Amino acid sequence: MNTSDIVAALTRIYEEETPSQEDLISLLSVSDDAGLRLIFETADRVRRRHVGNTVPVRGIIEFSNYCRNACRYCGLNRDNRALRRYRLDRELILDAVDAVEGEGVNTIVLQSGEDGALDPSWLARLIGEIKAQADAAVTLSVGEWPGEYYRLWREAGADRFLLKHETANPSLYEELHEGAAFGERTAHLRLLKALGYQVGAGNIVGLPGQTAKDLAADILFMKELSVDMAGIGPFIPHPHTALAGVPEGSLVMTLKVVALTRIVLKDVHLPATTALGSIHPLGREMALSAGANVIMVDITPAPYAALYEIYPGRRGAGEEIFRRLAAIRQIIHSCGRTIASGRGDAIRLCKKHPED
Ligand code: SF4
Repeated sequence: MNTSDIVAALTRIYEEETPSQEDLISLLSVSDDAGLRLIFETADRVRRRHVGNTVPVRGIIEFSNYCRNACRYCGLNRDNRALRRYRLDRELILDAVDAVEGEGVNTIVLQSGEDGALDPSWLARLIGEIKAQADAAVTLSVGEWPGEYYRLWREAGADRFLLKHETANPSLYEELHEGAAFGERTAHLRLLKALGYQVGAGNIVGLPGQTAKDLAADILFMKELSVDMAGIGPFIPHPHTALAGVPEGSLVMTLKVVALTRIVLKDVHLPATTALGSIHPLGREMALSAGANVIMVDITPAPYAALYEIYPGRRGAGEEIFRRLAAIRQIIHSCGRTIASGRGDAIRLCKKHPED
């Protein structure tokens, strides 16, 4: 694509209610420096216009690394016998929430594998205690559960739910997730929305067999679902998975997907993912300059953070919480941005500009 073709395609995907898959595929194939700069700078402008300059910081507590599933890309898969498993008790979780009080972390993300021993009432009580203790939003990232659990947790005060769709190619999805169907994943996402959660989806970039058409479909899927958040990260192979030895996803392709998602979805929260920071030392800074507006900090207490090994070499996992927080502040400031003071709710719920 030459420069004027790129500009025309970027304008169309920004303006059209339903952007064409062909435009997205063409833009995903851009690889020259000038073309990439154009895409990233456009996404940065759209980010500034629609979500502003401040960066909401989300603190993640990974409270269990048990999982009943066997996703072919994930180090927490139930067949990984080399992994030491853990569950955090209530006190440790509330201590982690307490540790970031006043540090600009205004969302607590409770994340776990799909732990078959999860007691829904225990989680509901925990959500209530966090909401009583901290002036923060609570996000759940705990996998697929029956609708009555989602309802219970919502009534207990959970604000948001992250359920990455991973890939919008149904056959690739089903290849990677034994016994699961993409239609079921979609049904869970729609149910969560109907229950009033702010909903996040997201995909993995660089899965074996994935094409540019699939990545374009991911962006259009998230647009159609009208997600509030989208987590986009590169595939990173884990040695104790079925995909050990498969090459990792590309930094540039992941940044292009982040940028195009920003241009198409506009007022969505897009994290500069830890996975991007794990494949390149400046991966998160680059994402914040290419459309991303949110950053996550792992506040799981040591030594457990290092055991939440969805992929190897997770950045910051071996450090103490205050060091991880300092690193996040440094990233935000190095991009000329500031930490958001509010909770970083879905933009559609903010009556005024997110920075007001
Ligand atoms: S991706 Fe999630 S559901 Fe799948 S094995 Fe990993 S933790 Fe479990």
